[in-house]
Amino acid sequence: MAVADTHDQTVPMTDASLNTEYDVVVIGAGPVGENVADRARAAGLSTAVVEAELIGGECSYWACMPSKALLRPVVARADARRVPGLSDAVQGPLDTAAVLAHRDEYASHWKDDGQAAWLEGVGADIYRGQGRLTGEKTVSVTTPDGTEHRLTARQAVAVCTGSRAVVPALPGIEGARPWTSREATSAKKVPGRLVIVGGGVVGTEMATVWQALGARVTMLIRGKGLLPKMEPFAGELVAQALTEAGADIRTGVSATSVRRAVPDGPVTVELNNGERVEADEILFATGRAPRTDDLGLETVGLKPGSWLVVDDSCRVDGTTWLYAVGDVNHRALLTHQGKYQARIAGAAIAARAAGVPLLETDRWGAHAATADHAAVPQVVFTDPEAASVGLTLAEAEEAGHRVRAVDHDLAAVAGSGLYADGYRGRARMIVDLDREILLGVTFVGPGIGELLHSATIAVAGEVPIDRLWHAVPAYPTISEVWLRLLEAYRDA
Ligand SMILES: Cc1cc2nc3c(=O)[nH]c(=O)nc-3n(C[C@H](O)[C@H](O)[C@H](O)COP(=O)(O)OP(=O)(O)OC[C@H]3O[C@@H](n4cnc5c(N)ncnc54)[C@H](O)[C@@H]3O)c2cc1C
Repeated sequence: MAVADTHDQTVPMTDASLNTEYDVVVIGAGPVGENVADRARAAGLSTAVVEAELIGGECSYWACMPSKALLRPVVARADARRVPGLSDAVQGPLDTAAVLAHRDEYASHWKDDGQAAWLEGVGADIYRGQGRLTGEKTVSVTTPDGTEHRLTARQAVAVCTGSRAVVPALPGIEGARPWTSREATSAKKVPGRLVIVGGGVVGTEMATVWQALGARVTMLIRGKGLLPKMEPFAGELVAQALTEAGADIRTGVSATSVRRAVPDGPVTVELNNGERVEADEILFATGRAPRTDDLGLETVGLKPGSWLVVDDSCRVDGTTWLYAVGDVNHRALLTHQGKYQARIAGAAIAARAAGVPLLETDRWGAHAATADHAAVPQVVFTDPEAASVGLTLAEAEEAGHRVRAVDHDLAAVAGSGLYADGYRGRARMIVDLDREILLGVTFVGPGIGELLHSATIAVAGEVPIDRLWHAVPAYPTISEVWLRLLEAYRDA
């Protein structure tokens, strides 16, 4: 295994750098590409990373970081308003300028110097520009000034190009200047009225933020309710809270056209039921598409614009050298899960480069992303928070498991009353009746995001119900819901 020289800075455009060989070439320096590079370098493999925009990817500048920085003051104020002795002190409005400044700070002011320095620090070479496959193990990089680098990978190319927001091709959409998640997380002022199309995670989180900052939010939901991929009570509790906060949630409707007659004027949305809604901005939170349309996939027999199908080592089906890691493989569109895959892909690339046999399940689980199938955790940072891991009841039944859903009202736990006056929340665990382990857990309520990892350990670790009794929750915490769920299961 050859190890090339590494630079400690972005590769300068010299003739020598136009044709370069590395062990590993990573396309896309989001959180996932960064972690693949880190693992490859840790294994002694020379590594090039190609990035077309900002090192740190969607997550750092237009997704996780800015959205959570916007949500934190909103949720903290809501929490404080539910605490006797404190609520009177926090009845005022949020300081919008300070909230947006906090967000700007967390988005690093949309500059990537810090992350570039980190990537250089692990010894990866950075190529700025659009990366495209040009054939087996070869990648071209077109820099902003049109220079072309040709990179060859001795071991592997890892595609970590992520995903982008999908905006439906409705009549009038082009002139309507719609927001996607990028504008919704980076906007510099609060719109007076905001229409949000879509009730998934992005739609509900952004509704929570902008409603609290003073926008009048209308949500247009095609289906029956919010957060359709979670247990139904998650969407119901979040919708109840958003409605109480003043949002107008309309279900069973879809937008049929959008129109912004004058550039700075309002936008009008027509609905399939004949109604019209007028707003200052419209956000489409209507799903994601893979960033594979301009990636040269056709040169290696794959379809441009498609999600890349991989095995549990994140290697693309039918290839020996091509990996697809993170959002782009469509297994779980979450940063933590993509970084988990990155650790695994990096280890698999290193093992294969060293000729070490790659076992399906090795002791440290280093080479198989099995949690993608059974134990994906997710927190929706709304008020109340909604958090889940593993399967919902519907998913477990559909997969053919013999299961029982066990529910508990979170308000009936000592810790929740102390946490908030008038606490509202619910917990559900899905028990596999044949194996007596948990297949899934969902919590909805204020402050439950930090509870999720206990459930992730139970689900990923396949901890037998008998042993869970010995995981004693501290008194008086909301975690005591675990005891109540176990009792409910035992007594049913
Ligand atoms: C509003 C919002 C909030 C979210 N909040 C959370 C959250 O709280 N927690 C969570 O876990 N997940 C969250 N997510 C999901 C999370 O952002 C993604 O799962 C994560 O960013 C995926 O990482 P990635 O590295 O696969 O892709 P990305 O972060 O999209 O990075 C891909 C990188 O590849 C680059 N690239 C693409 N094509 C090329 C090319 N041809 N050549 C060179 N470079 C290229 C891009 O410029 C980009 O920098 C959120 C998503 C959204 C939209």
